[in-house]
Amino acid sequence: MSSDLAFTCQCGAVTGTLLNVGPDQGDHVICHCTDCQNLTRHLGHAGRVLDAHGGSALYQSRCAQMRIDSGREQLACLHMTDKPTLRWYAACCGMPLFNTYANGKIPYITTQLAACDTAKRAALTGPSLGHLFTGDGIGDTSALRKMSMVKLMRRFFPRMIRDIFSGDRRRCELFDAETFEPIATPHRLTAEERQALPGRAD
Ligand SMILES: [Zn+2]
Ligand SMILES: [Zn+2]
Repeated sequence: MSSDLAFTCQCGAVTGTLLNVGPDQGDHVICHCTDCQNLTRHLGHAGRVLDAHGGSALYQSRCAQMRIDSGREQLACLHMTDKPTLRWYAACCGMPLFNTYANGKIPYITTQLAACDTAKRAALTGPSLGHLFTGDGIGDTSALRKMSMVKLMRRFFPRMIRDIFSGDRRRCELFDAETFEPIATPHRLTAEERQALPGRAD
């Protein structure tokens, strides 16, 4: 089986491929943080992305291991809060696709597994390593296997070093190779937009 994993937005305009996917190549985690939940609500895809405990299934990998095959002009990005995390989505249908740092200097790409080939994703990424920010989750999350951001950062660090020293940092589809600036202009949610976020389902 190829270790490439196809992804698509809901309407099919944006398609692409995660290359060389595997449990030793990236980290499959479930994030329950408020920002990840609110992102899906803001974009109108909570039902499609979130699990019963408000978790988003994510796969974090090296920034050059993602290829956009179509619909690049539909890629848009936003910041949910004052934090640097940049949320990428397909403007055509609002489907959330990736999380990255605010610019390409700190190289990683975190892909929404909800957008990935359902037949192949579990086999390629392997089971999730654990759940982040379970305290923000919906309902009783006490039985979920917790994972700390510190552990995730420790796993990310060697990949970041490789991306920087190999030059792969400049080969991310989402950032300009010279300036490291995002290829789309980020929008930061206004206070009004944050106020207007649909409430939690619980
Ligand atoms: Zn779309
Ligand atoms: Zn999160």
